Amino acid sequence: MLPTADLRDTPMNPPDPLQLACPRCNALNRVPAARVAERPVCGRCRSLLFPGEPFALSTAAFDAHAQRSDLPLLVDFWAPWCGPCRAMAPAYAQAAALLEPRVRLAKVDTEAEPALGARFVIRSIPTLALFLHGRELARQAGAMPLQGIVEWARRQLPPSA
Ligand code: ZN
Repeated sequence: MLPTADLRDTPMNPPDPLQLACPRCNALNRVPAARVAERPVCGRCRSLLFPGEPFALSTAAFDAHAQRSDLPLLVDFWAPWCGPCRAMAPAYAQAAALLEPRVRLAKVDTEAEPALGARFVIRSIPTLALFLHGRELARQAGAMPLQGIVEWARRQLPPSA
């Protein structure tokens, strides 16, 4: 047999069904690409896989969402003591409704999860970073308004991921 490349591994051809980690229990679910907009729920805990708002991400759960899930993951690195972070939080929450189901939105509290801030060398907060299959596609430091968040995220997306 001749060697072949698996087209499902390229961003131009996202896998179908998509593998998606549950925002609540982190179980990996398989969802047909045609059904992502139909409010799919987790097979284990019945939570929405697209909750319509950013979900908190722990160090332990990070790779399930940023590496093993098949949709881009936008992460807001923030901390409770950070004024600009708190100021941006409502806009970031609204951005989830606009960007799902093409992107999922998470938040990493760098005070509660210092290992993640160190791993990605987050120098200032808030910092937004976009991940897909374990790769960081882009990052942007500084608070942004709703439209800025949405437009920046859309500019960073692979062509059809
Ligand atoms: Zn679940």
